[in-house]
Amino acid sequence: MVCKVIPIKVLCFVLRAVQGHIPSATTLQSRDMNIDSTLCGTCIGEVECVDHILMRCSYTRIIMNKIFKWCGLNKQEFNDVGELLHFAALWGRCPKKRIKLLCICYSLLWNLWKIRNGKLFREVFTTICRGTENIKVLTYLWLKCRGNGRVGN
Ligand SMILES: [Zn+2]
Repeated sequence: MVCKVIPIKVLCFVLRAVQGHIPSATTLQSRDMNIDSTLCGTCIGEVECVDHILMRCSYTRIIMNKIFKWCGLNKQEFNDVGELLHFAALWGRCPKKRIKLLCICYSLLWNLWKIRNGKLFREVFTTICRGTENIKVLTYLWLKCRGNGRVGN
């Protein structure tokens, strides 16, 4: 069901993220590529691995908290992408609402990756507010355009 709503490129990206195969600084370094720094360019405190960008960076955690609040959920912290998807896949009792939450999670991951790349390659800084809004808008578009217009409850 989720596969029908979420674009294939995003599904592929998330699958690679779970496997730790997206080109983060540490992944590139392990492939012997010459990179300036393996530290995260946003919080500059930790090594930039996949799970740092998408789960553990302070910037990510603020956005994730805002999104969870928007969903009416309590604050959650996840150590890796698999944990988040596992949480969403088992959440609640209503299958329709669960699919919506999964879409929101995919949109969150996809947007965090785009925000990171924008900053790294184009020097575009996305504010927390803007980033959160982008995640909501993309989820809405997926559910509206690809889920036969059923956005409401
Ligand atoms: Zn960081």
